[in-house]
Parts: sequence; structure tokens; C-alpha cells
Amino acid sequence: MLKKVLSCAIAGAIVVSSPVAVIKDFTVLKAEASTNFYDVPTNHVGYDEIGYLSSKGIVTGYKGQSGSYFAPQKTVTRAQAAKMILTAIGQKEATVTTQRFSDVSKSHWGAGWIERAVQLGIFSGKQDGTFGPEDTLNRAQMSKVIAQAFKFEGDVSLGEPFDDVWVNHDFREHVIALYWEGITTGTKPTHYSPWTNVTRSQMSMFLARAMDPKFRVKVSQGEPEEPTPTPTPIQTTTEAVILTNGLNVRSTPSTTGSVIGSLSKGERVAVHSVDNYWVKIQYGNQVGYVHKLYTKLRNTSGTPVAKRIIVIDPGHGGKDPGAVSSGSTEKAIVLAVSQSLEKKLKAAGAIVLMTRAGDTYPTLGDRVEFAKNNYADMFVSIHANAATASANGTETFYDTSSNLNGEESKLLAAEINKQIVSLLNMRDRGIKDNGFFVIKNNNMPSVLVELGFITNTSDREKMLTNKDLFAEAIYRGILEYYKK
Ligand SMILES: [Zn+2]
Repeated sequence: MLKKVLSCAIAGAIVVSSPVAVIKDFTVLKAEASTNFYDVPTNHVGYDEIGYLSSKGIVTGYKGQSGSYFAPQKTVTRAQAAKMILTAIGQKEATVTTQRFSDVSKSHWGAGWIERAVQLGIFSGKQDGTFGPEDTLNRAQMSKVIAQAFKFEGDVSLGEPFDDVWVNHDFREHVIALYWEGITTGTKPTHYSPWTNVTRSQMSMFLARAMDPKFRVKVSQGEPEEPTPTPTPIQTTTEAVILTNGLNVRSTPSTTGSVIGSLSKGERVAVHSVDNYWVKIQYGNQVGYVHKLYTKLRNTSGTPVAKRIIVIDPGHGGKDPGAVSSGSTEKAIVLAVSQSLEKKLKAAGAIVLMTRAGDTYPTLGDRVEFAKNNYADMFVSIHANAATASANGTETFYDTSSNLNGEESKLLAAEINKQIVSLLNMRDRGIKDNGFFVIKNNNMPSVLVELGFITNTSDREKMLTNKDLFAEAIYRGILEYYKK
């Protein structure tokens, strides 16, 4: 079976089965598919594939108190991936005589699998002599190792199926190969999401499809691999982390209310409700009020951004195009990224307010007043940089000179900058303390993100073709800020 699949894959041939074979395959599939994992129900998107791999001993589950489970959403480490792939192509562990990688000792459970995977050219180590056995495998790396193991060769002339896999990525040919072989349809019709960690469910689907054509997807279908979660009402429990020492707790939501106590930096109190600038908290056995700007509101359940008031400020607009290069304008790029970010935050339950929803020009003062008048929890201004053609990369600004929440702004800037650099492979220009008008004159955590340089060919290309991914990176940065 395996040999036949491999030879088909190499030749790129289409498998034509006789009717008898089809019936037989179908019977086998049903028998193989009976998994006993309680977290992989029959309607799970990977039910058949996980059952198939499980029956062949390529994947195993975990023992829990209520039976065995598979943990389909759990990530896969590089060592685990090496073992799964080698087992799938009928390979065995190699004997390790000398330690090859500084972080894989001979007694590591995966040493033999890693050694064999390297011998076969399926996996390789890193430049610093390590392998990273416990690192999570991302979808870019998965495409490469599966294509190498099953000898799928990408023909880039067939076309580019995804808009987040760029010409200069070394895994591009592998992603294209997997797409045209029917191994992946992407995470969305036009996204492969190369930097996303691989889940056990995804890895199982990719492997089963690579091993057996009966699992493959028709290339034109564009169906999602993972089901889109159905929106459920977002319930949250919120706490207030106190950001300053000696914060007054008042009996009424007003600076004239009598002081019933005080809180210190780092203390956490349960939140009953938030009204404009006043947070109603549980203070011992009493109820009191603290000023919102001296707290960080954190959801201890539900999504990290639910109920947070987030102002997104797409830079420039209207008569002010911002930076212009090769026919592209900063105002159009940043509006598209902002609109995508707005959708993501709203889907997670945030209250999102845009300083501009179209091609209009609010003044810098208007933008600041807008955020203050809406008692925003956070202000995120989105821009693109311009300079000489060689300047490139992402940088994010915060202000500690006069913004009351300068330190919080700095933390937010760091999370957002990190996510953009990593998700889009941008040069990291770092975070900078700089009193730009909109972040300096605001009083809530405020940042100004420069996505990349519109004057640099590579940065501009990324901004024009990956607006959704830039939005995703900012979104993740905001989530990380709230999680900490
Ligand atoms: Zn700008």
C-alpha cells in the first residue's frame, strides 16, 4: 500500500481504482476509522484520518480518567513530528553512536528518530548546532518535512494558491507541492498560515492524505481544514490589576466620594462593573470605586479582550495620503489593516472604535479626543514608514514623557512589535520612546505601530499582500498584553 502511494506521488500520477477496489477501500476506511478517543467524535473534521493513523500505530492517544483522548488541538514538537513521519513511511529508529546535536543527548527518547530523519534529509538541524527537539513545529516546517518524506515536488508554474507564502520563502515550493497534491487546502481559501503551530489534528490530516490518496482533498474545493468555531456568547470575569501605589478606593464613582481605603501597585481586585472611568470593585467585604486609568482590566475567563474598549487609529486619510511609493498610499494600507483588526477584535468580544472608517481626515487632536471621550482602554495607531529604498523593518512607539500609562504602553508596544516581526518575518527595529502627538496626549496605554517601509520593495509587497496577517499580528500582540 505504502509503496504504491509513494510511487504514485513521485510520478504525480492520478490513481484510478476499479469499482471493486473502491468498495474495498471504503470498507477498510470505516473499520479503521473507529477511534476510541472521546475528544474525537464522529463529526470531528479529522475523525477518519486520526482513526486511520491510530490503527497503524502512527499516532497514539493519552489515558485520562474518563478514557483515552487524543488532544487534537495540542501542538506537535519536532521530535514527535520526526517519529510520526518516519513511522508513516515505514522507517525505524537509527542507532545513535555519536551525539549529533548539542541539545539531543543519546538517551533522549527521540534521538534515534531524529538521527534517522536527518540521515534521510527529512529534517535538518539549526546553524548553531542544535535541533530544538521540544520546539513546536510550525506549518511552514511541516510542509517541508512532509514534502521531503513523501518526495512531493512543487511545480511553481501550476500557480500560487496562498497569499501569505512569498516568493523568497524557502518552503514555498513545498507548500505549493502539498496544495497541488491535495494534502492541504490552507487555513482559509487564500491563507496557508505558515507561522502557525501545527496541531495534532492538522498533522494527522496531512499525514493521512500524504499516505493514502483516498483522504486527499479536491484542489478546487477550498474547504477549511478546521471547522470555524460557532460564535458563543462571550462570558467574562474581570479583575483589576492596580498600577500605582496608594490608589484611592472611593465610596461613590466620583473624585468627591469619600475615601474608604487604598490599594498598592500589583494588587488584584475583583471587578463588578465598569462605567466610564470608574471601576466598581470588591474591596474586602465592601464595594468601592477606583479610577480606570490606574488599573489594568484583565479577564480571568472568556477572551482576553472581551468588553475592552479599543480605539484603532488608521493613520492619515482624506487629503493626507501619508507616505506614497510606487502608486501605493500609506492611508489605504493602514485602513485595510485596521479594518481587518477591527473584525478580529470584535469577534473576540471587544468594543472597537475606529477614529476613521473610510477615507476621511480627522485631525490628530480629534483622534485623541475621540479616544478620551470614549473612555478607551487602549489606543492603537497604525502607520507605514518611509525613507530611502534600503530602509526596512517594523518599529513601534510609546511615550513615557507625558502619557499617564507610559509603562503599560511600552509593554503593549513590545508585544505588538514582536508579533509582527515574527508572523511576517520583518526586520526588528525595536520599540522606541517617542512623543508622537497621538500617543503623548492620550492617557490610556497608547502605541503607534509602523508596520514596515512603503519605500522598500519587500516591505511594501508584504503590506500590500498580507494586510490580514499584519492585523492578525497586532491582534495577537494585544491578546498577549492582556494575558500578562
Ligand atoms: Zn504615518
